[in-house]
Amino acid sequence: MTRQEIADAAAEIREADTVAALTGAGVSTASGIPDFRSEDGIWTEYDPNDFHVRRFRADPEGFWTDRIELVEDLFGEGFEPNAAHEALADLEAAGHLDGLVTQNVDGLHQRAGNEDPIEIHGNGQRVACTGCNRRQDADPVFERVREGEVPPTCEQCGEVLKPDVVLFGEELPQHELLSAQSLSKDADAYLAVGSSLTVEPAASLPRTAASNGATLIIVNLDPTDLSDRADFDFRADVTEVLPALAEAVVDGT
Ligand code: ZN
Repeated sequence: MTRQEIADAAAEIREADTVAALTGAGVSTASGIPDFRSEDGIWTEYDPNDFHVRRFRADPEGFWTDRIELVEDLFGEGFEPNAAHEALADLEAAGHLDGLVTQNVDGLHQRAGNEDPIEIHGNGQRVACTGCNRRQDADPVFERVREGEVPPTCEQCGEVLKPDVVLFGEELPQHELLSAQSLSKDADAYLAVGSSLTVEPAASLPRTAASNGATLIIVNLDPTDLSDRADFDFRADVTEVLPALAEAVVDGT
């Protein structure tokens, strides 16, 4: 990644009417959150079947017992937005990011200041009621589980609460998916960050954008499935590229 490449990519973002971004695990791992799918990821330590929606329905008590253990492992030590999250929030605040789609469930984009990210895999910082669909902060519910309320139930309707994430065996949320797809079609510049772009349907979002003429800017340590089609393919740390890019966009240099 050279200064000139950053400046050129920044110019594309600055001149675009609609700028969209998609973020994947690489943006979270930079905050110390373990990856799920990589070789030494979470699913080598835990059995994915324990977190399947079938298990949740058949055995919510066992599911929640295991879920709390997973939550402690993933987020036990606390975590903060990193420079990549902050750069995306800066772009949005400066009017140069119109929509942000994330595959991550850690809620760090909101904490960094992005107003309304499209969370296609849900948000693990929330729980949803399986009866009345009411959503609430997960932390107080996790506390109730630790104190023995297993499974936790809704104060309004008494049904079981579920982490507000897409479990194995569940469909992606339709509304979010449609919003993400429509953003892809509208985008004049599309930033794909920290994702190997292998998992569908997320992988098809930048592809759709590129097919519709958007400038495709990829930031990922490793080559991705769409690197061939990228106008800019930055194979470097997201916490280095994004701040440099955001600064160049905002400063107009
Ligand atoms: Zn309820």
